[in-house]
Amino acid sequence: MTEKPRVVLFAATLFMAGCAAGGDDTPTDASAPATVGDAQFEFTEIVPGVYQARGVGDLVVGSNAAVVVNDADVLLVDSHITPAAANRLLEELRTLTDRPVRYVANTHWHFDHAHGNQVYPPDVEIISHEATRAVIASGGSISGRSYESFIGALPGRIAAMEAALDTMSDAAGRAELEETLEQQRVYYAQTQEVIPTAPNTTLSERLTLHRGDREIRFLFFGRGHTDGDVVVHLPGDGVLITGDLMTAGIPYMGDGFVEEWIDTLEHLKALEFDWIVPGHGQAYQDRGRITHVQDYFRDFLAQGRALHSAGVPAEAAAARIDMTAHAEHFEGVSGPGVSPVAVLRLFELLDADQ
Ligand SMILES: [Zn+2]
Repeated sequence: MTEKPRVVLFAATLFMAGCAAGGDDTPTDASAPATVGDAQFEFTEIVPGVYQARGVGDLVVGSNAAVVVNDADVLLVDSHITPAAANRLLEELRTLTDRPVRYVANTHWHFDHAHGNQVYPPDVEIISHEATRAVIASGGSISGRSYESFIGALPGRIAAMEAALDTMSDAAGRAELEETLEQQRVYYAQTQEVIPTAPNTTLSERLTLHRGDREIRFLFFGRGHTDGDVVVHLPGDGVLITGDLMTAGIPYMGDGFVEEWIDTLEHLKALEFDWIVPGHGQAYQDRGRITHVQDYFRDFLAQGRALHSAGVPAEAAAARIDMTAHAEHFEGVSGPGVSPVAVLRLFELLDADQ
């Protein structure tokens, strides 16, 4: 299945947030997008009836979603970052189909994939790994390192922008900053409307839906990006929806289990599919990217372990870890130094092992 993905809707401004990382690569064979009104989502048809929904407007949506249009209903994979984003997706979804959304999946518990859950009525099945449900049900999606750095820090960032605006005289610069500031104020207000809503259907290893002729497999292969990453495999369509186990670049590692993640990715390589629909960035066909991520993780782990053994603090280690050997596969890598949060997380795991 190598036909062109068809872009259905497009709006001009890209504004990404949440646990995105890395570049936003062009799909292998994308057709030119069409512009329609002030659409906040771009729907790209990967194969017939399976779409990738990406935020392309001012509305902060966080992650990608995937839309699977079945004979009688719709499955949405990931529910976005706020009820505002989730509701807008439902509205724009009507340009694709009038079939009801009967299933939603949370690939993992990160706020940008699960904080739209509350907009769905109780008869919609929200499916996740049992660990994902446990984290959301106990308030873990509105606390902790990742939530604090991306959402908890928003008022401070807004205040810093307001202070910068006070000292800025350049008119064009002011206009641009004012626009960003307004986006962030709206976004912050939307995050305050979130009521974390736990999935109502869980799996420990696998769950299969049969909708018409389509088989939809929800699979857990071990810990990775979080402790409960589920991939959605559509074997008959040749599509694998990975959540943040794979993104367009190097996935966010702040809540990850990097060593186990390498093994989990090995299981993905054993599946049959033509397309990867990642948690962030555009869909792609090059499954070799899974190996590139594994190689990156192995190298990161080896360098991190050596620095940890030598007693180098995490912050200093982050500056010294050199991943430039992987630059040809990851455009965000341009010299020594990695994300401090990735190293903090690794050191936390290594400390726990001792
Ligand atoms: Zn994530």
